[in-house]
Amino acid sequence: MTEESSTKKTRIAEFTERCREIGLKITPQRLEIFREMIAATDHPSALMLHKRLQQRMPTISLDTVYRTLLTFEQHNLIARVNTRESLARFDALMEPHHHLICELCHGIEDIQSKSLDELQLADRVSDWGEIQKIDVVMYGVCKKCLGKKVAV
Ligand SMILES: [Zn+2]
Ligand SMILES: [Zn+2]
Repeated sequence: MTEESSTKKTRIAEFTERCREIGLKITPQRLEIFREMIAATDHPSALMLHKRLQQRMPTISLDTVYRTLLTFEQHNLIARVNTRESLARFDALMEPHHHLICELCHGIEDIQSKSLDELQLADRVSDWGEIQKIDVVMYGVCKKCLGKKVAV
């Protein structure tokens, strides 16, 4: 329907290659779920993704979507956002980045920050071991929700 950008095409090519490497069968459903994941910018839950997929694939079950996302996560094709929510939220952006989470609408936005990536940590940390990944989650209230609060 819509024309896919070259980055999306590259992501799909990488996806199919990785599936072959790990011996994961590329089914039309898996491909559609991955496609929907890389199109999403809102870090969807399985439920959110299922609603979107149902418009094109009316027979797809929530369980299939959930299980597929877990399989993708397991093989590092997507990541899970560290939220306090009980509902898992997924991320197709695999480059290092951090997250801003709204406590009211549960919106999740990406944030790139060199200063966070290069965070100066207490000596206690180097005594403890070696840091391999810094994944910061900041909680607050987004502008949209702040606007609503003022209006009330
Ligand atoms: Zn909000
Ligand atoms: Zn993200």
